[in-house]
Order: sequence, then C-alpha cells, then structure tokens
Amino acid sequence: EQSEEVGEEYLFKIVIIGDSAVGKSNLLSRFARNEFDSNSKATIGVEFQTQVLEIDGKEVKAQIWDTAGQERFRAVTSAYYRGAVGALIVYDISRRSTFDSVKRWLDELTTHCDSTLARMLVGNKCDLENIREVSIEEGKSLAEEEGLFFMETSALDSTNVQTAFEIVIREIYTNIS
Ligand code: GDP
Ligand code: MG
Repeated sequence: EQSEEVGEEYLFKIVIIGDSAVGKSNLLSRFARNEFDSNSKATIGVEFQTQVLEIDGKEVKAQIWDTAGQERFRAVTSAYYRGAVGALIVYDISRRSTFDSVKRWLDELTTHCDSTLARMLVGNKCDLENIREVSIEEGKSLAEEEGLFFMETSALDSTNVQTAFEIVIREIYTNIS
C-alpha cells in the first residue's frame, strides 16, 4: 500500500501531468491558495502543496505535486511519480494538440504508477469557449474509454477546480477504506 496511514490521518500523493501551458500550476494554485497567475512563467521552486480535507471525520492530507516545467522536454522523472495514488491528466480545451497528448501521459502513468491509481481527465480553460478546439463529448468519451473520471475546469474563473481535486481525493480514500 502506497498511501501512508498515520493514526487517523491519511497522506495521499497526487500528481498533475499534461503538456506545457495547459494550466497545471494554476489549477494547483487555485485549489491550494485560491490564486491565479496570468503570467505564463515556468513553475520554479515549489514541488508540492499540501491541502487538508476532512472525510468521514478523518483528516486527509493531499500532497499535490506540480512539475517544474520539465514536461516541456518530455523529461518528467520516475521520482515525480513515485508513490502517487492519484493523478490529474490535464489538457487545454483550446489546443487540440494537448488533448492528443493525453494517451502518452496515460502511458507514463501505466509505466510509473500502480494500476489502482485514481485518475481524473481534466479539460482546463473551459472559459475559452469561443476558441474551443476539443468538445466536451470528446473529453467524456476518451475518459469513458480509458476508465477515468472527467471534468472541464477553469483555473481562471474557478469552475470545477475544487470539485476535480475532491473527486480524486475521495476516490483514493474510498479505495483504501
Ligand atoms: P502549466 O505549464 O501547465 O503549469 O500551465 P500554467 O499554469 O503555467 O498556465 C499556462 C498559461 O495558461 C498561463 O498564461 C495561465 O495564465 C493560463 N491559464 C491557466 N489556466 C487557465 C484557465 O483556466 N483559463 C485561461 N483562460 N487561461 C489559463
Ligand atoms: Mg507549470
């Protein structure tokens, strides 16, 4: 079992993956700090953020990992994935190439993680409806094919960000309890 149980506390490692600039870092900052950054600078420094939730009266710590921009070079290392029990696979609904990459990211998870991993496909930037390149139906059907949860989000206007993370965290909790 890769999740750690400390008394009545739980610690879950969750990774965020997907192509560069799909909004991974902003999803995390929106979830963890309710912040959004419109400057597209590569994430430097922060490895993960911890959020504490209560489920069934138990304290659950979600340790959510963000890449430091290494996905640009297709060089996310196995250390990044090690011990993960949940994953958000993110694409940008306004850039089809990022959706086309999802299968490759799923292969990465298969290579590096346990098959019991809780996985959520996230179509981010749903505020950009006017320049949408990937329909909701396409996202849904890929998620169904691959057995993933699915949600469209906007880190900009906060749509579904909390919900997406919480579904993954609850699923991990359900899997182990
Ligand atoms: P990462 O490389 O996947 O970590 O992506 P970032 O979080 O750095 O975001 C890349 C760019 O997309 C930045 O300019 C963000 O401001 C922008 N961005 C992120 N999320 C959203 C969103 O939900 N809507 C819109 N319109 N822009 C976003
Ligand atoms: Mg980033």
